[in-house]
Amino acid sequence: MPDEQTYVIVGAGLAGAKAAETLREEGFDGRVVLLGSEAERPYERPPLSKGYLLGKDEKSSAYVHDEGWYGEHAVDARFGVTATGLDPASRRLSLADGGSLGYDRLLLTTGASARRLPVPGADLDGVLYLRTMEDCERLREALRRQGRVAIAGAGWIGLEVAAAARELGCEVTVIEPESVALSRSIGPELGAMFTELHTEHGVSFRFGEGVSELRGEGGRVRGVVTSAGVTVEADIVVVGIGVTPNTALAEAAGLAVSNGILVDAGLATSAPGVYAAGDVANVDHPLLGRRVRVEHWANALSGGPAAARAMLGQRVSYDWVPYFFSDQYDLGMEAAGLPEPGTYDRVVSRGDRAGREFIAFWLAGGAVIAGMNVNVWDVSDTIQDLIRSGRTVDTARLADPGVPLTAI
Ligand code: FAD
Ligand code: NAP
Repeated sequence: MPDEQTYVIVGAGLAGAKAAETLREEGFDGRVVLLGSEAERPYERPPLSKGYLLGKDEKSSAYVHDEGWYGEHAVDARFGVTATGLDPASRRLSLADGGSLGYDRLLLTTGASARRLPVPGADLDGVLYLRTMEDCERLREALRRQGRVAIAGAGWIGLEVAAAARELGCEVTVIEPESVALSRSIGPELGAMFTELHTEHGVSFRFGEGVSELRGEGGRVRGVVTSAGVTVEADIVVVGIGVTPNTALAEAAGLAVSNGILVDAGLATSAPGVYAAGDVANVDHPLLGRRVRVEHWANALSGGPAAARAMLGQRVSYDWVPYFFSDQYDLGMEAAGLPEPGTYDRVVSRGDRAGREFIAFWLAGGAVIAGMNVNVWDVSDTIQDLIRSGRTVDTARLADPGVPLTAI
């Protein structure tokens, strides 16, 4: 069939798998090739720091599709295959297995990789990361020994692993250069709430300190030396110090890259016929009016399909309100918007903050730019509408649980 179009997706994570699904749902009947470096078929990562890590959820619940789905939908899925080169002029990819592949349209959903700890001793046994299923299974095994766990970084990985480790009976110390948990992603106000939550569950924090060195014995890690010169003894060290977007392929091909692959509001890169979505894409966001690279599950879930529609020639304006969630101990939360420090001037709460059943709103110039519902449910859509409206709100009414949120 000489006229058959070939659409290739590089990166078989959530964004890539959902893009393949959308191409078929939208009626694309050409060739779809999905390439993924990992040997596993696409899976969702949130269970790796929660239910699957704790042994509460089955591995099968993490997969995006059943094993048979790819064949049934004529998706040429090649797992364990890395794309190593891209030539946008000839529209060809080269592959690590020696092969090459032409495309008519290409989607890059190459995601991100865990940032490595750049200190002496980082290669000792017992120094663990958490990005892949394989990482999760290694960590699961280690946590079952109920030893002393030191965690570098009080970000999302650090805190979710701390909660799982405490639930499994480990001793936990978290080392974090900032003065509260999660300050870079949600600011100090709500970061303090997460710090309190973990402290109440017996987690020790060392704030204002980085990791200077890892010390070991017989090739195995035994402790962390912090920038304050203190040694935290540990049987394992979990590193959760952020991620770097996997841009090497795009960069070598000459695509515009700056903190991720630069895409317009329709998820198109600087190269004709090439799109990007998920953790790796730095989007010119039509609603927020600035570039954002979002490293959360919902962005992969909706960004992959949006990019697939753009590949099919549909008009796409990726103007979604960023959304993410977390579960730690008995606290469940959803957050909408991006409440990074510097983007807001005020935080207002509605509900029982001390009892951790409330909604926090971040405001800038009187308008809600982000909201987090903590152990309160079925309000995220309304919070997203408030953010989307951009309108100035009456903060007294916003803080008053007696006023329905839909009436604000
Ligand atoms: P990825 O998931 O990174 O997938 C990209 C895939 O592309 C990878 O499999 C990679 O191997 C492959 N790849 C890269 N380069 C190539 C190449 N050259 N050739 C072929 N394949 C390639 N977010 C939330 O909102 N809530 C949560 O509770 C939450 N929990 C999380 C827990 C953990 C442990 C982790 C690690 C992340 C969590 N996240 C959570 C974040 C969320 O999982 C990510 O935002 C999401 O995985 C991004 O999806 P993606 O498809 O863009 O990229
Ligand atoms: P993260 O949320 O970006 O947090 C990294 C933390 O590590 C920051 O607090 C950072 O502090 C700190 N840090 C940096 N260098 C350090 C050092 N040398 N020593 C000690 N601490 C250091 O990243 P992450 O927790 O590693 O998570 C990885 C990715 O998975 C992210 O994309 C995250 O969004 C995603 N994820 C999301 C969820 C969720 O949404 N529920 C859950 C798990 C994972 P500074 O701010 O000072 O740099």
